Amino acid sequence: MLEPRTELEPTMKPFSEPIYVTRAFMPPFEEYQELMRGVWERGYVTNNGPLLKQFEAELAERFGLDGTIFMVNGTIALHLAIRALELKGEVITTGFSHPVTTTSIMWEGCTPVFVDVDPGTFCIDPALIEARITPRTTGIVATHVYGIPCDVDAIADIAKRHGLKVLYDGAHAFGTRLQGRSILNFGDVSTTSYHATKIFHTVEGGSMHARDPELHKRLVLLRTMGQFGEEFFIPGMNAKNSEMHAAMGVANLKYYDEIMAARKHQWQLYFKLLKDSPLQLAHVPEGIEYNHSYFPVVFRSEEELERKRKFLNDLNVFPRRYFRPACTQLPYVKQAGTCPISERLANSVMCLPMYHGLEDASIERIADMLKEGL
Ligand SMILES: *Cc1c(COP(=O)(O)O)cnc(C)c1O
Repeated sequence: MLEPRTELEPTMKPFSEPIYVTRAFMPPFEEYQELMRGVWERGYVTNNGPLLKQFEAELAERFGLDGTIFMVNGTIALHLAIRALELKGEVITTGFSHPVTTTSIMWEGCTPVFVDVDPGTFCIDPALIEARITPRTTGIVATHVYGIPCDVDAIADIAKRHGLKVLYDGAHAFGTRLQGRSILNFGDVSTTSYHATKIFHTVEGGSMHARDPELHKRLVLLRTMGQFGEEFFIPGMNAKNSEMHAAMGVANLKYYDEIMAARKHQWQLYFKLLKDSPLQLAHVPEGIEYNHSYFPVVFRSEEELERKRKFLNDLNVFPRRYFRPACTQLPYVKQAGTCPISERLANSVMCLPMYHGLEDASIERIADMLKEGL
């Protein structure tokens, strides 16, 4: 007689190598090395060197950007943009973003005033902005969350009526296009990040974009200690970036189309596999060119999320809870309860692994693991 089975067969085998939420794209080593040979020959390693100028020019031309100021990272980009726009007093911002969207406002001496988000796009809900405007409000700092664009027309309209400046944190949004233009051309200033975890990277790096020539000039000066030539014009910051980082940008730019096409394929595969599951997926509005930079899934509760996360971790898969906590729940902000949708999302959203080279078969297994028992 057969023994009754006491243990279930393991239906899912763990991955042999850990699968993290992201992994930096690396260009062919020889191509980076070749760029380094030039740096070695010139002995010119930073301070607006030739590779940095080349990278800025290639970005501006290829993506039709209103000026590109390549710099040290996407955090300092926000700080300098707030300075250049001379924001003071109260600044309207989103309840759901990376903490630095909030902390840049605080460091620059302004008070963040939080507005909740649209539950489908995760971006600031323009319908809730006006109720939070006071005579002390000077600007709006909003994030294109997961690369999905904010409702830029509605925000521009509100800003115009109330005389407010608009700054977009486009750290996730490189490559997203709207109305035939790069998303980085919207607002008074837009910033982005080229950190190694973002869809297009320079190891560390960021950029600022402004259409207004005076504003552009001020941003350039702020990046470079207020210095131009041998003169010092305004109190600035050292937010320059190096030839080594610019070289990574130049090298990676050659693979940009390939990186974006692969990411779109992965995103669409996850979407196909998960669209009929109980998980809530992002709402990407019609008519935009989306960069497919993240694949967030929203669970019905934090308990369900944590149970699933542990299950995935045991199978060697490591998704990440971006963004948690909500900006209102940060320990130094203490405004929990003021943005219920942002806070619910922060407690229930998780981003799935997605990076260049992640195989379809792995995505299929991750989707199966995720749906198991939901
Ligand atoms: C990553 C990120 C930043 C910061 O960019 P760094 O280049 O890492 O300084 C800012 N805002 C958002 C929304 C981000 O995700």
